[in-house]
This record gives sequence, C-alpha cells and structure tokens, in this order.
Amino acid sequence: MKKIFLIILILFFYNFVFGVNIRVRIANARMIKCSASKATFISGNFKKKLYGKFIITTSSSGVSLYYQDKKKNYGSFILTSDKIKIAGKNYKGKFKVMNINKRVNIILTLDMEEYVKGVIPGEMPLDWPKEALKAQAVLARTYGYYSILKKRTYYDVGSTSNYQVFVGNNKRNENVCKVVDGTSGIVATYHDYPIEVFYHSTCGGRTETSEDLWGTGFPYLQSVKCDFCGSSPYYLWTYTMPIEDLVEIVNKLGGNFDCITDISCPKKTKSERAKYFIFSDNESEISFNVTGKDLRMTIGPNKLKSLLITRIELDGFNIIFTGHGFGHGVGLCQYGAKRLAEMGYNYINILNYYFRDIKLTKLKD
Ligand SMILES: [Zn+2]
Repeated sequence: MKKIFLIILILFFYNFVFGVNIRVRIANARMIKCSASKATFISGNFKKKLYGKFIITTSSSGVSLYYQDKKKNYGSFILTSDKIKIAGKNYKGKFKVMNINKRVNIILTLDMEEYVKGVIPGEMPLDWPKEALKAQAVLARTYGYYSILKKRTYYDVGSTSNYQVFVGNNKRNENVCKVVDGTSGIVATYHDYPIEVFYHSTCGGRTETSEDLWGTGFPYLQSVKCDFCGSSPYYLWTYTMPIEDLVEIVNKLGGNFDCITDISCPKKTKSERAKYFIFSDNESEISFNVTGKDLRMTIGPNKLKSLLITRIELDGFNIIFTGHGFGHGVGLCQYGAKRLAEMGYNYINILNYYFRDIKLTKLKD
C-alpha cells in the first residue's frame, strides 16, 4: 500500500512541476498517407520542412518517407506540425514515426488534459448533459494515468476502441474544453491507485461485476441496480438470425452440429447475464456448451448486444434473442449517467454510484 501511495505522490509531484504527457499511438499500418500545409521533419540533427502530401511505409531497416517523388529510408524520425492530417484525421503536436513489428507506428506525445479532450468526442455524444460528460472525462483521464503506470515500451495507449477512442482535434469544440477543464487533473482512485476503468453504453437494468465476466474481481466494480437507462434505444432489443448461421458459429467454437433444435441458458451471473448456453440437437442427441462471452463475441457484439438475454425463441428457420442493454455491462452505464445528470446529480455522484468506495483525487492544480 505504501508503494502505491508513493506512486500517487510521485504522480502528483510530477504533474505539479512538469505536467504529464501521454504517448498515444494514432496510426498502425504498413502504409500511412499524410498531408500538412507545413510540417517539420527531424532525424538526428537533420531538419527539413515538408509541404503537402507524403507517404510513410515500412522498410527493412525502419521506415521510408516518400516525398516529392523521392524515397528515403530512416530508422525512425520525428514530425512536428500545428495541423497535420494522418490517415484521414487531423492532429497537431509532436509525432514519433517508427517501425514496430513490421508496421509503421505513429506516436503522438501530448499533455494529459489535451488527450482527454481528444477522447470525449469519441466516447460520448457531445450534446449530452455536462455532468455526464464530466464523469466520462474523469474516466478518460483515469484510464490515461492507469495506462502510463503500465509502462509499455513505445506508447501508453492506442487510439482505437481496444483502448479508448481518441479522435485528435477532429470533433473538439468549446463544450469539450469546458467539460475537461472543469475536472482538470481529477482521477478516480481506489486505495490511492488509479482504478481500472470500464464503461459501456447501456446496462439494461443492472451492471455486471468484472469477476463474473472476466474472472478478475475489483472491489470497486460491484453489480449495481440501474433504473436510469430505460430511455436508451438499446434498453430492449431483439436479434434474429438464421439457425444455419448459428450452427456455423457454434461449430466454429468447437461444436459438431448439422442442426440445432434447442438452446438453454442454465447458468446466469448475479446480474442475470448468461454465463453459458447449451446447444442441442434432438436427432443426433449432441449437446455442447458455449460461454456467453464467446458466443457474443463470435456472433458480433453489435448484433448480440448484451448477455442480459431474457428470451430465446426458435421460430421456423430462425432464432430470436430478446435482451436488454448494450455492452459488457461492467462499470459506468453511459445512458444511466445521462439520466442521472438530467435528474440533477453531478459527476461525483454519478461516479460514486457506479464505482463503489472510490475517491476522486486531484493530481493537478
Ligand atoms: Zn444502466
């Protein structure tokens, strides 16, 4: 515990004196198109200006720059620009360009608060109530600090939904800046360490524990009742799929069916989400278990929107799932946060509702 407290103290001190930078991997591909009205290229002591379009690809010894019909190879290089388009998105700042695992990686280093301003538009609609957006901002910042403490070699976070979506300067507006500035430096901690952040669109009535879903429990991630996400378009949904497609999916997961004639869900988690399904075929008398998580991920998480499934019907050649909510259900329910904010609760109330026994700690003045 002492060591953890020390980390917070160091973070606080470091923040106070220097401000904290985070390294965001904004592109990861074999070839990346860029354009800038003006960018500075730096490799060792060599500097030059780039104007207009250029392309970066991998090379055997690092990366290649294609600019004005010339190709040059480098181990790695730095770019700086006030306005640069990289793989179709606008950014500004300082970028390291390097080859990681035979792919061009572009890593933007920026101030933590600037990072949070680039995350909010990717993770929550900007016309939502201010206190819901502030709750999201605290979680985005907490995720950032937590990622820095993981000490990854080349970058701290990626910019895709595998991390949190970072959109750079693309959708930033005055509202985003106000929301982020209004929570400046605040992170959610448990026992003086940034919490592991989880959130989802709509819980559908009750959030899930991380233990039930992933097998790892966190004391602050309990299952809480949520009566606040009923207005979400994903509160109640049905998903219909042909049984032959389901057979294909179950066989992909290790089954051996020609046909499926019955599905049951004998075990559920505390929040009533499906732990696993049993598929069977009366004729061949085969039955086979698939975990809820595996089935959802294989069908597609945007199709089978959650595991809070209340009804499964076999209807002719189709199977119809009826369920509540969208997402894994762990941590903050975003539509619930929206409703709580509309009811007059502030971001502190909202975060303390979905994350138990956490503290909000200000790391920066
Ligand atoms: Zn909810």
